[in-house]
Formats: sequence, structure tokens, C-alpha cells
Amino acid sequence: MLSLEGKIALVTGASQGIGKACAIALARAGASVAVAARNEVKLQEVVNEIAGQGGTAKAFVLDVASEESIKTTAKAVLEHFGSVHILVNNAGITRDTLLLRMKRADWDDVLTTNLTGVFLLTQSLISSMMKARWGRIINISSIVGETGQAGQANYAASKAGLIGFTKAVARELASRNITSNAVAPGYIATAMTAVLGDKYHAAMLGQIPLGREGKEEEVAHAVRFLASDEASYITGHVLDVNGGMYM
Ligand code: NAP
Repeated sequence: MLSLEGKIALVTGASQGIGKACAIALARAGASVAVAARNEVKLQEVVNEIAGQGGTAKAFVLDVASEESIKTTAKAVLEHFGSVHILVNNAGITRDTLLLRMKRADWDDVLTTNLTGVFLLTQSLISSMMKARWGRIINISSIVGETGQAGQANYAASKAGLIGFTKAVARELASRNITSNAVAPGYIATAMTAVLGDKYHAAMLGQIPLGREGKEEEVAHAVRFLASDEASYITGHVLDVNGGMYM
């Protein structure tokens, strides 16, 4: 199995769902993991789960919608672990509504959390990767950033923006041996999709060639691969994890 021994990872939105699965997968491969989100209690449960499996993790309270919180947390993680080699920008929210009814706040909340937070946190951590002459930036985008989706103009714009950001950063940092890639999940069973209802669920399944929703771990495995040395020649790529829903 690929090894991330000696590597330090920071995963945002690690208190549940895909982020939690990424933190666990990276820790199982040997990385020390900073798990970050707003819910400290849930973060501590993730830390305990990783420790119970023999891994190393520490919880950091982080609100990616706050520039101050991002700067404080980045500093705290660097002080604790010494560096960050792998950054998984996973925290994300939805505020779904049709464009005609979309409030400015619905737009701002989603763009601030899903896109501006990624810019600020990535910027805070690239010096550490440059110093190590090794880095992995992995941004969790979405199939919706590639296809668009009615009722998600804000979310689709943020996730498409992440793809542009990923590619620009890939070009800027390639000479420093830092790769930047995006993972675009399709329809994954998490709290985010659980609220969508049976009718939506059935409609989604009808569009997935593999005939089922994805599991958090299936996204985490793609992230772990991109974080590894095995993915050393892959940068600026968008890896779809969507059961064939978009190809
Ligand atoms: P989830 O279960 O709702 O988890 C979202 C995570 O983001 C939580 O850990 C939450 O933690 C964190 N978060 C939200 N706002 C935050 C903030 N301001 N600061 C820090 N952390 C914040 O959703 P998920 O399905 O695992 O989604 C994870 C990522 O995958 C998101 O970027 C999502 O857009 C993307 N994605 C999901 C799907 C899917 O089908 N599920 C498909 C495509 C893409 P706290 O509440 O503790 O802060």
C-alpha cells in the first residue's frame, strides 16, 4: 500500500462526511493529520478514532469563512506539527435556491466558505510546502462545478471556481514540486445529500451508470492517491469520482 509516513496533512471540514473519511484514510497511510472544522466535539471524536487505529491526529477549530480564523489556525498547525505537506480543502456548504430567489447572502456565504476560504488557507500554507520542496494541494470540487445544476448557481460557481484555482496554482507551484489537483465527487451519501429527499434521490440514481450513490471512502481513496508519491506526475487534474454520472 502507498505510504504517507513522515507527511503532515491538514484536512478542512474533517468533523464529518468526506473530510472525516479523508482524514482517516490519510492517517491509515501513515500521515499525521490536523483535522479542522468548527465542531470541536466531532473533531475530537475523529481524533480518537484515528488514535484508536494507531494513527496520529490533532483537532483544530477552524471557520473557513473567517480570515482571522484561517490565519490563526494555519499558524497553530504549523507550530504544532512543524510543517504541512498535504492540504485537503474539503469544507463546503450549500444554500440551494433558484436564481430568481437567491439572496445576496446565499451567494456570499457559499462563495466565502467554498472558494475564498480555499484561497486564504492555501496561501497561508504554501511557504511550508515550498520549504519542504514537496507538497500536495487537493481541492474538493464537485460534479456540479463541471455540469452546472439548477438551484445551485452559487454552489456551481464556487466549485467551478475551485477548478480554475486548482489549475492556476498547479502552474504556479509545479517548479517547487508541489502538485495541485481537484477531486470532483458526484452523488455521495453524506449529511449534505441526506436532506435532499426520496424523489431527488431516485432521480439521481437514474443518472448514475454504476447505479448507486458513492461512499465517503471512495472519495477519500482518490484523495489519498493524489496525496501520495504514486501521483507525483499528476497536476492540474480534475479527478471525477462519480460512478460515471458525468464523463
Ligand atoms: P457535510 O457532511 O455537510 O460536511 C461538510 C463539512 O464541512 C463538515 O465537516 C463541516 O464541519 C465543514 N464546514 C462547513 N462549513 C465550514 C466552515 N465555515 N469552516 C470549517 N468547516 C466547515 O458534507 P460532505 O458531503 O462531506 O461534503 C464535503 C465536501 O464535498 C464539500 O466541499 C462538498 O461541497 C463536497 N461534495 C460533496 C458531494 C456529496 O454528494 N456529498 C458531492 C460533491 C462535492 P463543521 O460544521 O464542524 O464546521
